[in-house]
Amino acid sequence: MINEEIKLDYDDILIVPQQSPVASRKLVDLTIERRFSHRSVTYRGVPIMAANMDGVGTMEMADALRKHGIFTCLTKFHSTEKLISFFSSDSKRSQYCAMTIGIGDDDWQRFATVDSSLGSDLTYACLDVANGYTDRFVKCVETFRSLYQDKVLIAGNVVTPEQTSRLLDAGADIVKVGIGGGSVCETRLKTGIGYPQFSAVLECADAAHSMGGKIVADGGCTRPGDVAKALAAGADFVMLGGMLAGHPEGGGSPVDRYFQSREVGHDGEPIMDKRQFVEFYGMSSKTANEKHFGGLKDYRSSEGRTVMLPLRPSLSDTIHDLLGGLRSACSYVGAEKLENLKDKAQFVRCTHTHNRIFEELSDSLHNRG
Ligand code: 5GP
Repeated sequence: MINEEIKLDYDDILIVPQQSPVASRKLVDLTIERRFSHRSVTYRGVPIMAANMDGVGTMEMADALRKHGIFTCLTKFHSTEKLISFFSSDSKRSQYCAMTIGIGDDDWQRFATVDSSLGSDLTYACLDVANGYTDRFVKCVETFRSLYQDKVLIAGNVVTPEQTSRLLDAGADIVKVGIGGGSVCETRLKTGIGYPQFSAVLECADAAHSMGGKIVADGGCTRPGDVAKALAAGADFVMLGGMLAGHPEGGGSPVDRYFQSREVGHDGEPIMDKRQFVEFYGMSSKTANEKHFGGLKDYRSSEGRTVMLPLRPSLSDTIHDLLGGLRSACSYVGAEKLENLKDKAQFVRCTHTHNRIFEELSDSLHNRG
């Protein structure tokens, strides 16, 4: 069976500007409140989450992002000792950070150890698997919920309303939506599986909201405008990997690379420019499997890429650009608060090619400058 309805990615749409009472973007309030049915927790902050990926979901990143009111899902690969010390030394951290686990026995054990050492003070948990469609995963969400009733549970990933509802029924509070659209993801290439992300967000958000649940749009944002589109489509949060990678807070070791510049030295030879790069890789890549699991198992293929990103020295500059873009998007549609962006936004379909050509042009001009 083929679903012939058109499904869209972020590049396939734009948000239409409208008459706006917002005099200046600096007046736009980006802080939102999210309440979770049946949990006594309210999130107050910017609805952005750093992904639980190496180079992004680090403790240093979490502390830096918290200053901007941004949430972090820590990677699965922090030791119990480090997690206990991280969360116990500053009680505010548990309001802006989730401990992430998989669905193995050792994951449950680690979560129980950390949470009980903190006197049950962990507020958020992220139950993360590549494929949120297995019966085993749904059971795990149920088990988690029966063990921990007060925690806010982020669980996924899925891309369809039916499975979003199933995970919410099983006890998730925030469903992670996105398969195959990540910047260093190869699932679409290796398996043919996926779903255009903008449509996935629209459809899953509708399903979740009709049940009082929430979603986080996970993956595929490459520009601040994509984050605005995801929130305008109804995402309660947006998760970012690549857009936050490449900063010192991500913990990678910079590598020097030399490039021939356009300038020529006294000796007539071209001057070499030094630029620094950091490695960034998908959590299902060969690199991640080698780092954390002693290599790729013989029944798996690598479903992630490894890339070298130019080192971005200032996380604050990146966040400034991101939040500035969101403020501006709100002012274009007349939303005084980010909270109101979804209600105000209307979309227009455009050609993917137009958007891509525009981005490539703007990139090449930027790099030239
Ligand atoms: P990004 O913001 O970089 O576009 O996407 C981040 C998301 O990509 C992550 O939160 C996660 O859901 C997904 N992801 C991370 N690593 C991999 C990988 O190796 N393979 C796949 N299929 N998805 C990945």
